[in-house]
Amino acid sequence: MSSVSQYFKGLFQGIGALLTGMSVTWKELFTKKITQQYPENRATLVISDRFRGELVMPHDLNNEHACTSCGICQMNCPNGTIVIKSKTIETEEGKKKKILDEYYYNLGSCTFCNLCVLTCPSDAIKFENTFESSVFTRGKLNMKLNHLGSKLREKKKPEPKPVAEKPAAVQTPPAESKPAAAPVEPEKKENIINQESADSATSDNVTKE
Ligand code: SF4
Ligand code: SF4
Repeated sequence: MSSVSQYFKGLFQGIGALLTGMSVTWKELFTKKITQQYPENRATLVISDRFRGELVMPHDLNNEHACTSCGICQMNCPNGTIVIKSKTIETEEGKKKKILDEYYYNLGSCTFCNLCVLTCPSDAIKFENTFESSVFTRGKLNMKLNHLGSKLREKKKPEPKPVAEKPAAVQTPPAESKPAAAPVEPEKKENIINQESADSATSDNVTKE
């Protein structure tokens, strides 16, 4: 290919690319603008539920949480954002038990990877979609997630199952007994014997013949 044809081929390719880019620019110039005026629109602002803004530990009305202080979230956090301090107590039954003392989360170093939430076996932590987390002091980003005086929510023990009653034994009807033979009166008995002997005599005669 000559250098002249190469020159014109490159020229037309450049013009085509320029027109493609300009078409996008002109199209965006006339589309509806979606720029949000924050913070003026704070009252109507809708943040996606899936947005990860801050790790929290939900507590119920009894100030109880679900964290067993197992430390799995701390182990799975890739950058040491979570620090758990636990303590051992003695239960009413005299057994030793590890419970959560302090749960620290550093929002300043969190990468919002969600690994801690995904690996927690007790669903004790979750991400809120709050986003206004700016502070003037970096130390304020290190937060204690368990509330003052909170404790582990005890699982309800399953109620014992009622013992199933044994089904009543099936009453089998008594086998029908044969009616007892009626006693033979002595007079009839004698007639029967006579009849039997007569029959045998007749049969003897028949045999002889
Ligand atoms: S989201 Fe990721 S970085 Fe943040 S605390 Fe959880 S595991 Fe650590
Ligand atoms: S938040 Fe979950 S994973 Fe972390 S210590 Fe508590 S129970 Fe274990």
